[in-house]
Amino acid sequence: MEKINSIAIDGPAASGKSTLAQHLADHLGYLNLDTGIMYRAVTYAAMQQGVDLADAAACTRVAENTRIDIRPTAQTDGRPVDVLINDEDCTWAIRQPGVEGNVSIVAAYPGVRRALTEQQRRIGLRGQVVMVGRDIGTVVLPEAILKIYLDASVEERARRRFEERQQEGSQETYASVLESMRQRDQLDEARAIAPLRPAEDAEVINSDGRSIADILTQTLSLLETRRHGR
Ligand code: C5P
Repeated sequence: MEKINSIAIDGPAASGKSTLAQHLADHLGYLNLDTGIMYRAVTYAAMQQGVDLADAAACTRVAENTRIDIRPTAQTDGRPVDVLINDEDCTWAIRQPGVEGNVSIVAAYPGVRRALTEQQRRIGLRGQVVMVGRDIGTVVLPEAILKIYLDASVEERARRRFEERQQEGSQETYASVLESMRQRDQLDEARAIAPLRPAEDAEVINSDGRSIADILTQTLSLLETRRHGR
């Protein structure tokens, strides 16, 4: 398989994927595409339209008909990008616990995955993309020159997410963040199509107790090695 000059970063929620991807993309001058945004956007749109989330065909129609735009932002409220769903700014709405609690249900439907995977693959094949998700190395872009599977213990990941939530002024407890993260991991790992797992040729990195600078250095050195075909 001919390699494409794009990087796949997969792993469970809050393992540090987005932060690593942002640093990598800045360093290399690549586009950064977080595919979780797309699954969240479809889930949000379905909820807004009152679609029954247990109805796979209805959720698939939403995935096929929703226009998702991810753009560089001019806002200063901490958002990494602007997320527009059918022209409406939904950047923060897709991060709410209500969406988070349902996204893994919607993401398990084959029709939803087909619609989004197609768009992601088209972008990734152009090269010079850092793509973040759960199935980038295994399904979306198996040709990626470097595949990273970033992991961390569920307690550490829940602590990071809990701290983010507190900074946003949320009342959610650590116990509830931990519980919802466990459920989401379980659904993402157990689904029949494109489950969360490292690709055979992925580099598995555990981010527990490690700084982003340290992981970035390791990733850049792995990239050099792969580029030289080693
Ligand atoms: O990464 P993030 O937490 O934003 O992803 C939200 C959810 O979207 C994941 O828990 C997973 O169910 C789904 N997802 C997926 N495949 C991807 C990216 C995200 O199934 N490539």
